[in-house]
Amino acid sequence: MAARLPLTPHEPGALRLLGATLIDGTGAAPVADSDVELRDGVIVYAGPRRAAVSVDRTIDLAGTFLLPGFVDAHVHLSMVPGTPEEQRAQFAEEHVLKVAGGLRDTLFAGVTTARDLDGLTPGYRNAVAAGSTLGPRLHLAIAMLSPTGGHADPVRPNGSLPAWAVRPSIPEPGVVDTDDDVIRTVRGLLRTGADAIKVSTSGGIGSPTDHPDDVGLPEAQVRLVHRLLAERGGSPITAHALTDAAVRSAVLGGASSIEHGYDLGDDTIALMLEHGTVLVPTLSTLLRTLDPATTTSAALRDREARQRRGLDSVRRAIAAGVPVALGTDAGVHPHGRNLAELGRLVEVGLEPLAAISAGALGGARLLGLDAHLGSVEAGKLGDLVVTVVDPLASIGDLAEAATVRMVLQAGRVVKDLDGRA
Ligand SMILES: [Zn+2]
Repeated sequence: MAARLPLTPHEPGALRLLGATLIDGTGAAPVADSDVELRDGVIVYAGPRRAAVSVDRTIDLAGTFLLPGFVDAHVHLSMVPGTPEEQRAQFAEEHVLKVAGGLRDTLFAGVTTARDLDGLTPGYRNAVAAGSTLGPRLHLAIAMLSPTGGHADPVRPNGSLPAWAVRPSIPEPGVVDTDDDVIRTVRGLLRTGADAIKVSTSGGIGSPTDHPDDVGLPEAQVRLVHRLLAERGGSPITAHALTDAAVRSAVLGGASSIEHGYDLGDDTIALMLEHGTVLVPTLSTLLRTLDPATTTSAALRDREARQRRGLDSVRRAIAAGVPVALGTDAGVHPHGRNLAELGRLVEVGLEPLAAISAGALGGARLLGLDAHLGSVEAGKLGDLVVTVVDPLASIGDLAEAATVRMVLQAGRVVKDLDGRA
């Protein structure tokens, strides 16, 4: 079974985008004064300007840069700000509308496809597909698998729940100990509509009772998840893995991608290369600044050490040629600054063209959607981003959503700050 292609409403008819500098996302050199033609939401031509073409509508993009719609492979769109008291007190509709705001902000930041790795239910995927709300095309893990007391387990020692676990209509956490638990949980998630299964092979940072160095799901259970998925169409596994040992368990168990990967040994990097495992380094979350007022000095020191180790780990993986996809862990930090990750990827060794490619085609490949998404090429859906920032000169400026002047999804203009459309 091929990966489910998340739909959005498309623009009917023929549309031509003229005059932008095109960076198509394949890694190819930019094309000045480009010409991109879409028919019924699908790109039929992308390249240098041609002679007159008969279309329904032309948009003049002179002075701008035209990029593929980006793919954020790691978000938590159900995470919205609020204390546990506020989360408990609100009506379900308030929460849903806040999530809808995050979906819109993510799309307006230039992310036309996102993979939510815990917390979002398929109702949002369906609403985006139906055009009921603006948002990225969605792939969902729905929930995450870990043992009792592991990264997926929200319960505090006294039995209470933290803020992120008291949101309305949150999916059941994937707390699994026995093989039977794994089988029941994975099959249940597939029945509910999961596009990927997320496992935690290490502990986490924000979860109440575990430590990053703890062992999460063991290799044998990752392998079991892999077998269950193979029986049902072969959806990918992605693994939250903070330690070297956790990455090895995930890769050997059959995970397609590693989230974070902040402590990779050179042998493990070689193992990832051998298996073609993709790294989603979520540098936006590794490097976010903590509030010194609410963080102890010991926690700040621990974090600085983790950041140094994490950056070194990701730099070595990239230098060795491990494929990278853009992921931000947005939700853990505010939604709508997703393309800040592009600048971070350049800081750890990617050339700007390669960062753009990792940010679009890299994610599309990881999601199994690269036949339809991830680059500006004939035959693909017209998911496009128009910016006034030259990404080859100042990619870090794309962090500000206001630098993204237009966004199109399947040829439909969903954001247009300059009234070009
Ligand atoms: Zn996450």
